[in-house]
Amino acid sequence: MTTSDQAKRILVTGGTGLVGSAIKHVIENEPDRDKRNEEYFFISSKDCDLRNREETEVLFKKHQPTHVIHLAALVGGLFRNLSRNLDFFRENMEINDNVLSVAYQTGVKKVISCLSTCIFPDKTTYPIDETMVHSGPPHDSNFGYSYAKRMIDVLNRGYFVQHGVQYTSIIPTNVYGPDDNFNIEDGHVLPGLIHKCYLAKQNNTPLIIWGSGKPLRQFIYSYDLAKLYLWVLREYDSIEPIILSVGEEDEVSIKQAAEAVVKAMNFTGEIKYDTTRADGQFKKTASNAKLRRYLPDFQFTPFEEAIQYTCDWFVKNYDRARK
Ligand code: NAP
Ligand code: GDP
Repeated sequence: MTTSDQAKRILVTGGTGLVGSAIKHVIENEPDRDKRNEEYFFISSKDCDLRNREETEVLFKKHQPTHVIHLAALVGGLFRNLSRNLDFFRENMEINDNVLSVAYQTGVKKVISCLSTCIFPDKTTYPIDETMVHSGPPHDSNFGYSYAKRMIDVLNRGYFVQHGVQYTSIIPTNVYGPDDNFNIEDGHVLPGLIHKCYLAKQNNTPLIIWGSGKPLRQFIYSYDLAKLYLWVLREYDSIEPIILSVGEEDEVSIKQAAEAVVKAMNFTGEIKYDTTRADGQFKKTASNAKLRRYLPDFQFTPFEEAIQYTCDWFVKNYDRARK
């Protein structure tokens, strides 16, 4: 029996969020699901407040994971970050320290935590790669979230150097898909635009895009990210972070992203820009060259196709969607 054949008990923190729900969806639809020796536990904040060490210990004792996909975090778009930088730093530091230390204490073999391309230095060269996580201050808008996320990489190094365990991290670009947080003030740009477009259509009012529409972003569909996350769980054996992103050539402006939403929602009303709202970081163009060295043939879902699916999901699930 090889290591990969041995039974895995996988705790997914943040298992009810955008990325956690996508991982659940992908696992449930894997053709060889029954042959894999994997048992998953998807956890929300209602099962355990990971800011609390005792609750975290009880959770690990209950599920006895061998592996952890660590997604739980205080998460939000530009405007939520701008208003709560201190909370983003403190809560995420607490969650991450509890998860990693209790994982180590209970003999977990592998933890895969989640960083983000928005934690990289603001003033940098492009494309950004995995070696640059600590190379300069992050953008002012989300310094709390960024420094807390960077500390995961410090913790992973510490656990490896001091204790020899392989805790690692992945770095996705902006994620979108079903089960996102569609709250207009708190959420990210795509779910915000989808929700605003839905309301503009209902109420016959203009769609307001915040900022200039000029900033650039690479968007990854949550189901694609989920497949790559599972590959990292099963195959990637390094403590060094790995960027999980579409290519640099797939970067789009906020204006182009809004146009894709407008098309998918079949919105024919007026479109306006509110330039009193912040633009945030202009760009954070990331290289997926490392990922491509491992998975040269991985097929990303085309942007317009995944936007259409996400918009259709939101319209169909309007009553139950997080908003
Ligand atoms: P999300 O949809 O907001 O979900 C967050 C998850 O974390 C939920 O399951 C939530 O539980 C859980 N959670 C929050 N606080 C918790 C606490 N104190 N104790 C226990 N659980 C808690 O977030 P997401 O977009 O899926 O993000 C997943 C990971 O990807 C995060 O680490 C995030 O930083 C990273 N990431 C996201 C993006 C993006 O564009 N969304 C981009 C790059 C990286 P409840 O459901 O009970 O609230
Ligand atoms: P970021 O990628 O970490 O900066 O976070 P977001 O996903 O919140 O994207 C922010 C960018 O989208 C900024 O340039 C905003 O000005 C722009 N934007 C346009 N409309 C919206 C909206 O409705 N919600 C959000 N969150 N951002 C918007």
